[in-house]
Amino acid sequence: PKLSKEDVLKKAEELGVEFIHLQFTDIFGVMKNVSITREELEKALNDEKMFDGSSIDGFVRIEESDMYLRPDPSSFTIYPWSGESLEARLICDIYNPDGTPFEGDPRYILKRALKHAEELGYGFNVGPECEFYLFLTNEKGEATTVTHDNASYFDLAPVDLGETARQDMVKTLKQMGFEIEASHHEVGPGQHEIDFKYDDALVTADNIMTFKMVVRIVAQRNGLHATFMPKPVYGIPGSGMHTNMSLTKGGKNAFYDPDGELQLSKEAYYFIGGLMKHARAICAITNPTVNSYKRLVSGFEAPVYIAWSSRNRSPLIRVPAKRGSSTRLELRNPDPSCNPYLALAVVLEAGLDGIINKIDPPESINRNIYHMTSEELLGSNIDRLPVSLEEAIKELNSDDVIKKALSPHTVERFITAKLDEWDEYSAYVTPWELERYLTKY
Ligand code: ADP
Ligand code: MG
Ligand code: MG
Ligand code: MG
Ligand code: MG
Repeated sequence: PKLSKEDVLKKAEELGVEFIHLQFTDIFGVMKNVSITREELEKALNDEKMFDGSSIDGFVRIEESDMYLRPDPSSFTIYPWSGESLEARLICDIYNPDGTPFEGDPRYILKRALKHAEELGYGFNVGPECEFYLFLTNEKGEATTVTHDNASYFDLAPVDLGETARQDMVKTLKQMGFEIEASHHEVGPGQHEIDFKYDDALVTADNIMTFKMVVRIVAQRNGLHATFMPKPVYGIPGSGMHTNMSLTKGGKNAFYDPDGELQLSKEAYYFIGGLMKHARAICAITNPTVNSYKRLVSGFEAPVYIAWSSRNRSPLIRVPAKRGSSTRLELRNPDPSCNPYLALAVVLEAGLDGIINKIDPPESINRNIYHMTSEELLGSNIDRLPVSLEEAIKELNSDDVIKKALSPHTVERFITAKLDEWDEYSAYVTPWELERYLTKY
């Protein structure tokens, strides 16, 4: 049962909660906190808590800086790692002083996309697979990229720091209400994955933010540094956030059709068509950092080409074998540096565009694309994902469906900031260049 304002006040009182963190996420996917004491909780729940939006990255200009945080009572959760003073959090929506939702609030952008789906009769369920690395910290407590773990995929290694930390993460997540479906070592040394059960996209986006916070905090408590950076080390697998999704209609899985080709519905095919059409622009949001594109290269499990398959794991979109209520599409390019609210909003709008405009996907590719020769690829009309953040941003800038999904305010801020990030990176002289050119020329 969802908690009401009154329930939250009562619960906070009963449990003796001392501090409440009012949380929201900026457009770059960074969680922000305004902390209050229990005495201020009632005021906050009655939308009387104002904050200065100009102090938040990517939010607003100074002259329009007063914003209101509206806590979502159903998000009230105790921090299991609280010390003597019990702490809790509330996830908030952001409102303008005139009471209208703020266009630059990622949670609002996702809510708007979900409303669009609802108007068409659909619900949207999402289950993410977040991968991350656990690295050692140095004597100053700073993050390194060193891992002492030599275990690999599904290895049942003797107790090591990473395994202990991951068990601790799973325990903490469960205490916070997560339903953990799987938790395992990944391919890279020190790389892990914890999967939690799919839910309505808004709950899932909130969960992804909470998940990343928990993983970082618990890692730190175990003397490790957890990173969701997409490609922390050259030559080893990057960390992705495979995004499993399905539409529902009338409480049933709308991607499942026992009589359809591969037992998939028309909607499933159009959704794939929409995702593929907008894939290059979507990357700007689902793969939003310079580093994201160092993961999207051949030779690892990350996708490079825009293709779909029901058989193998190399393409952008995979249709897992499960049918019935588990019928879903797995989008494989997103990485955990993305803002989950914006990411789920753009993939949903891309899929809906496919349904609205009946966009047929191309033929599926049921062989490993990496094993195709360059000639075969050239002759096949298979397009590739952007190779850089700059290319992705240009694609975003010319895709009206994705821009509309994000709102003009967010698009403008996002593109400006990301082009700055790209320019700064472009001017930087990297170790690779020194190694390659310093003595050669
Ligand atoms: P993989 O086989 O790619 O490793 P996992 O088993 O690790 O996949 O993760 C599958 C994810 O898909 C989980 O988060 C699960 O809850 C989610 N999932 C299952 N059914 C659905 C569905 N109908 N809609 C959306 N997500 C789903
Ligand atoms: Mg998985
Ligand atoms: Mg699995
Ligand atoms: Mg994985
Ligand atoms: Mg997967």
